[in-house]
Amino acid sequence: ERLVSAEQSVEDQAIDAALRPKQLDDFIGQERVREQLSLVLHSALRRGRTPDHVLLSGGPGLGKTTLAMIIAAELGKPLRITSGPAIERAGDLAAVLSTLSEGEVLFLDEIHRMARPAEEMLYLAMEDFRVDVVVGKGPGATAIPLDIARFTLVGATTRAGMLPGPLRDRFGFTAHMDFYEPAELEVIVRRSAGLLGVRIDDEAAAEVAFRSRGTPRIANRLLRRVRDYAEVRADGRVTRELARAALKLYEVDEEGLDRLDRAVLRALLTKFGGGPVGLSTLAVSVGEEPETVEVVAEPFLVRQGLLARTARGRVATAAAWEHLGLTPPPSAGL
Ligand code: ADP
Repeated sequence: ERLVSAEQSVEDQAIDAALRPKQLDDFIGQERVREQLSLVLHSALRRGRTPDHVLLSGGPGLGKTTLAMIIAAELGKPLRITSGPAIERAGDLAAVLSTLSEGEVLFLDEIHRMARPAEEMLYLAMEDFRVDVVVGKGPGATAIPLDIARFTLVGATTRAGMLPGPLRDRFGFTAHMDFYEPAELEVIVRRSAGLLGVRIDDEAAAEVAFRSRGTPRIANRLLRRVRDYAEVRADGRVTRELARAALKLYEVDEEGLDRLDRAVLRALLTKFGGGPVGLSTLAVSVGEEPETVEVVAEPFLVRQGLLARTARGRVATAAAWEHLGLTPPPSAGL
């Protein structure tokens, strides 16, 4: 398990749940999304109608599940949670849809991974609050239309671009969730520390926030690790020095890079003069599978402007040399 992975680990589950803000007002950052959503929800409440379906797009750990829960809470309706991979057949979706209560909020995580036939059933359900249940097989099969409760779908996806157009069009409101600013993450860290009973100095919270890759889930995880360190090595109060020492021990650097990220970057700089070098050559040089390098390490390096993917291969930027404290050779062409 990588400390800086945005994906939910088993250990995260209970903590994620405990640290979730319960109301829109407690949700930190994502100003525009929050304001827009507040309008959608309040106008629906005023008119006494179910709000439009909501699509949340953004990377893991940015608060999509949290927002779905908040939407249900603000509407005062129950929440049903399922995910694309759990819906393998249209029947799986029919079973969920036909048992929804009036106004219920259905959270469909990883909606882009839902089975194709289920997708078509969802179109009809979203638009007409109806499902066609197919009874029988072969030539004798008949579709029986079944009315379902008016519900609000909250779909979440890490890739809005991968959703078929007809599905995307059926959402009345799409919110793009960006990575958080360090200042916002700092507030999140302080709030989480309060809930967990961790004493943390403001500068220490800033230190944790800065290394959290713009992602609340990572911030909360790093907070727990620095808390552990402060409890064992000191009196439990997290100071800036303790936070730094802990994160050094866990090999999370000032910009949030971990050991793998740095190994990839270092190899690119020291073995290939900053590139360009092909992905598989680079991967072999750090003893990893190309896919690991491409999926696990590269996206963040690219986002940080440390590495570029070009047609001729991977290339380090001037910032990469600077980050590792190395001097680029003239041939690096920077
Ligand atoms: P996602 O569904 O996008 O993977 P989650 O909603 O599960 O992300 O959020 C992960 C964790 O991060 C939650 O425990 C929650 O405490 C925290 N979190 C996410 N967004 C915020 C936010 N805006 N303010 C405070 N905490 C947040």
